Amino acid sequence: MNTTRRSFVKKSIIASSVAAFSPNVLLATTRPVKEKLGVALVGLGYYSTDLIAPALLKTKHCELRGIVTGSPSKIPAWQEKYGIVDKNIYSYDNYEDIANNPDIDVIYVILPPSMHREYTVRGAETGKHMWCEKPMAPSAADCQAMIDACNKNKVGLSIGYRCQHDPNIQAYQKVVKEQKFGKVKMVTSAAGYVDGRTNHWKQSKAMGGGVMGDMGVYAIQGARLATGEEPISVRAQTYTTRPEIYHEVEESAAYILEFPSGARASCQSSFGINMNHLQVNYEKGWLKMEPQTGYGGNKGSMSDGTEIYTPVDRQQPLQLDDDALSIINKKPYLCPGEEGLRDIRVVEAVLKSGANGGCEVKL
Ligand code: NAD
Repeated sequence: MNTTRRSFVKKSIIASSVAAFSPNVLLATTRPVKEKLGVALVGLGYYSTDLIAPALLKTKHCELRGIVTGSPSKIPAWQEKYGIVDKNIYSYDNYEDIANNPDIDVIYVILPPSMHREYTVRGAETGKHMWCEKPMAPSAADCQAMIDACNKNKVGLSIGYRCQHDPNIQAYQKVVKEQKFGKVKMVTSAAGYVDGRTNHWKQSKAMGGGVMGDMGVYAIQGARLATGEEPISVRAQTYTTRPEIYHEVEESAAYILEFPSGARASCQSSFGINMNHLQVNYEKGWLKMEPQTGYGGNKGSMSDGTEIYTPVDRQQPLQLDDDALSIINKKPYLCPGEEGLRDIRVVEAVLKSGANGGCEVKL
């Protein structure tokens, strides 16, 4: 049975013991358990249109029920394709009205990074569960504000790190956990592609562009997941080979992360180089992945002849169902807001080091 926000408002007036809480906190803590969760997508660009909406059709525990858009011209095609009813369509102005819509359980923010904080904080205030795309936000302070807003409203916050839901990525995380080849000595982690666009938010500082928030978080994730550790210091070089396009933000970055065990990771991220690989050298062996961050088809091998390859067509349905099950079963998310924040702290350190001649930045 669905319960509306209004009925909770009434209950909150009657129940004096809980009168100190806001209605949305009550909604979040007492919402009924469902088998399938209604998802509303905020932002209908490339990733929503080509990846997440089609992936929602392949999930067991999610259903695309709502959209939030600033482009009314997109609405008819989305309604026709996904059967979204009129009452579940929102603009950026009446976004908060989702609070009163029992069809929607989860809001998924898929906007340019500079908008993630505002739409996650406003979304959390509706009492709905929040999912947000990577990079979590342009700054660690933004990430913390998003985590705080979700905690205040007693809603979860998951970051769209699709790779962590992929059994092939989980396979190399297991190697370090089980110390199969001893300790990690060195990681090489690269993620880049040639972006030919000239006037996209990825080239705009104000919109949270730059390669570090984009392909950078993948290279960082590769290093963090392969070592199972958090870096303690960074030295970086940020550079641009096409200054006519990348004059506000970095096109490429090469950086070294140092981990508490003494392991180092040499990382590269670029909007100007096609590359996608991970190599881990342990005390007694090695592991290679290529590609390491594809939507599917990630695979690898190890020095003892073990292959890493579980066929995955697309990671997104796995991510969406895992996150829906976390809500349904009241279990922690695999990639909560804190995980997004960890990467953005490293991104900030890379940019600081890059802007200061490659000096060491401690984390
Ligand atoms: P996009 O440019 O294709 O879409 C952005 C959407 O935001 C559009 O619908 C646009 O209309 C809307 N928007 C609203 N206000 C805007 C403004 N002021 N400027 C620009 N756009 C505005 O971008 P995308 O590739 O869909 O990326 C969206 C998010 O998804 C980003 O955080 C990106 O990093 C992430 N993403 C993740 C993956 C992944 O593999 N996890 C892949 C691609 C993108």
